[in-house]
Amino acid sequence: MALMTGEQYIESIAKIKMEIYIMGEKIDSPVNNPILRPSLNSVRMTYDLAQKPEYEDLMTVKSSITGNKINRFCHIHQSTEDLIKKVKMQRLMGQATASCFQRCVGMDAFNAVFSTTYETDKKYGTSYHKNFVEYMKLVEENDWTVDGAMTDPKGDRGLSPSQQSDPDMYLRIVERRPDGIVVRGAKAHQTGICNSHEVLVMPTIAMREEDKDYAVSFAVPIDAPGLLMIIGRQSCDTRKLEGGKLDVGNPEFGGVEALTVFDDVFVPNERIFLAGETEFAGMLVERFAGYHRQSYGGCKVGVGDVLIGAAALAADYNGVPRASHVRDKLIEMIHLNETLYSCGIACSAEGYKTESGNYIIDLLLANVCKQNVTRFPYEIARLAEDLAGGLMVTAPSEKDLRHPVAGPYVEKYLKGIDSVSTENRLKVLRLIENLTLGTAAVGYRTESMHGAGSPQAQRIMISRQGNLEQKKKLAKKIAHIEE
Ligand code: SF4
Ligand code: FE
Repeated sequence: MALMTGEQYIESIAKIKMEIYIMGEKIDSPVNNPILRPSLNSVRMTYDLAQKPEYEDLMTVKSSITGNKINRFCHIHQSTEDLIKKVKMQRLMGQATASCFQRCVGMDAFNAVFSTTYETDKKYGTSYHKNFVEYMKLVEENDWTVDGAMTDPKGDRGLSPSQQSDPDMYLRIVERRPDGIVVRGAKAHQTGICNSHEVLVMPTIAMREEDKDYAVSFAVPIDAPGLLMIIGRQSCDTRKLEGGKLDVGNPEFGGVEALTVFDDVFVPNERIFLAGETEFAGMLVERFAGYHRQSYGGCKVGVGDVLIGAAALAADYNGVPRASHVRDKLIEMIHLNETLYSCGIACSAEGYKTESGNYIIDLLLANVCKQNVTRFPYEIARLAEDLAGGLMVTAPSEKDLRHPVAGPYVEKYLKGIDSVSTENRLKVLRLIENLTLGTAAVGYRTESMHGAGSPQAQRIMISRQGNLEQKKKLAKKIAHIEE
């Protein structure tokens, strides 16, 4: 079954017995949990849209491995056109869910592991690439959602993995057996992990010889013995338990992150993609980060489109759509959002072929893209809050709106223009609240800062890739400086 329907995806996740901890309770599936279900719905959209003829070209593609039609989220990019379509698909998905739809992390991991395993094998004669290609056949044929897991807890940031007082602060190999390895450690902030069939683990930093046991990449099913997830809290998450829809802002969709623990998980040989070749850890990290920094030039732009639309609606409902300062703020939001998109498209268009044959983005431009993402969504959110007005955070609850005594007062005094109901006005304000301060703010604001690496990580890459010496030469030539 190369392409699952949304319904089949939900059924496939429902069949997996997971170990999930949420708000002090142990559950075995996200499917019927009111806090987790919206995040599952977001991933489902990656399957639903792939079924629609109008999105066929964006959401599906011919597999480079089997020639079959597959979901683009499972694809190994074959051209710069593929890279551009990836960004367009992510913008579309952001528009359709107004949240993090989670499936990109796996897609970015596939492409980074594909090229890195090729180069590792070339140097060491290992069979990681063959392992990985076989794994990708399973991913594509089963249309799996795979969580890409990179970020270790990291303990004391001033110490390397092997120098930590607790050796598990970075995920590591604790046992090497003839049939595989046993790993222990954790991966933090795992986007979409409880909505995934599998997890693909990568190291989180470049490593030295003494960190050999930490240079490890592999994939295991989400119900592998010893793997457990502890779900992160999101601002306003318990509003989803109240039963109503209005106060949630985005009642259908959401994102999810979890601290994922690998408590002596066994990995069979054929699922190992790196195990001790420390010099390739850095390459894997750099490539994954590059792809994921490109991704933000698509997903955050799509969510930004919804936020800009919501801010414009709020202004309409207040009766001020033609005020010059309102128009100017909306123009500024569009300008910032499209600048992010331009970066996502540019790093894709300037992509190139790796030794393994797949395509990678231009790393400098992808890092510039993500660096802008650490800033512009904050300004877009600030302008949206400006246009929304204070009612966005002082509006009474849905229950008050429905109350026999309080309700009519809420209706009467919180009304904007005549032609729009108070309820609709409140809906749009709650959506803005959700995107800037509520559950979706994880994906739109703080993830813009820290997701795919915190700002300093991009600045390091920009300084490495920026070619300052070449720029100095240019200046010297123009100024006729001879030394
Ligand atoms: Fe995809 Fe964006 Fe979520 Fe990352 S943050 S998984 S790129 S939607
Ligand atoms: Fe992310």
